[in-house]
Amino acid sequence: MSAYEIRVFCPATIANVSCGFDVLGLALDAVGDEMVVRKTVEKGIKITKLEGQNLPLETLQNVAGVAGLAFLAACDYEGGFEIEIYKKIKAGSGIGSSAASSTGAVWAMNELIGKPFSPLELVKFAMEGERLASGVPHADNVAPALFGGFTLVRSYIPLDVVKINTPSELYATVIHPQIEVKTSDSRRILKTTISLEDGIKQWGNVGGLIAGLFTEDYDLISRSLEDHIVEPIRSILIPGFDSVKQKALDNGALGSGISGSGPSIFALSKGEETAKNVAKAMTEVYDKIGIDYDIHVSKINSEGIKII
Ligand code: ADP
Repeated sequence: MSAYEIRVFCPATIANVSCGFDVLGLALDAVGDEMVVRKTVEKGIKITKLEGQNLPLETLQNVAGVAGLAFLAACDYEGGFEIEIYKKIKAGSGIGSSAASSTGAVWAMNELIGKPFSPLELVKFAMEGERLASGVPHADNVAPALFGGFTLVRSYIPLDVVKINTPSELYATVIHPQIEVKTSDSRRILKTTISLEDGIKQWGNVGGLIAGLFTEDYDLISRSLEDHIVEPIRSILIPGFDSVKQKALDNGALGSGISGSGPSIFALSKGEETAKNVAKAMTEVYDKIGIDYDIHVSKINSEGIKII
């Protein structure tokens, strides 16, 4: 008999990863939410508990509820689900808070009813949650949360997600300055066209990063962690961005950039020791400016969502 309830870990994720706006993402190990999902005889989705953040419990206003309804609408399961959400990821931090809830919900539901859907189909349901959170059904956080490791959304229509190899010594450092940047603002300020010159640099770097990840060539990864399109515009919204990035690079990071739509800033390093030194250097910048922060050092999570 299949389980009646499961508790899952839903990882935080870093979207964009410098050069891959809306297409690249990676999953973290050290930060994530927990959810308990339970089958009910009653139809529909009910969010019965939400701890750790002040977020709506109403099914249609919570990304877990919206993603869950998309899942239910696509299958012939007769009952419904109850969801408890234990948030550890702050909403609006730029490390995939909404994606953790929407993917956690649909992944757990799928497990509970005998996995009728493939991970790619689950990405589509979870994207409905992202549509609620930001107005745009992007997949660059939900894909790594579901597949684990690094992922590339090669195409949105039709949806095509590719799992990328994760080099074993790669660590992420993420600092979340406690300032508010609205996802809608950080999208609105972007230009809708790019020059051919910038395009050439950007797709060169995306290709370089993917090749570097597969061949575990840390120098190539480092050279490819550049963003000529989004970072120069978005970084204006993040106080201290240039100094944090420079400090990360000076202390051995392979690269550094904005995590998702910010305000979190990430760095990738070879080895945990370097990632910790980078964390120390990043925090010193915000200590000096006087902005509070959360800081995380994490291995890349190659598994994605899992039962705990
Ligand atoms: P992040 O910047 O960490 O990726 P998002 O901007 O994607 O976070 O999502 C935050 C938005 O989603 C907020 O407006 C929040 O109210 C809404 N939201 C609704 N349900 C949830 C949920 N279960 N977890 C996180 N955010 C949620």
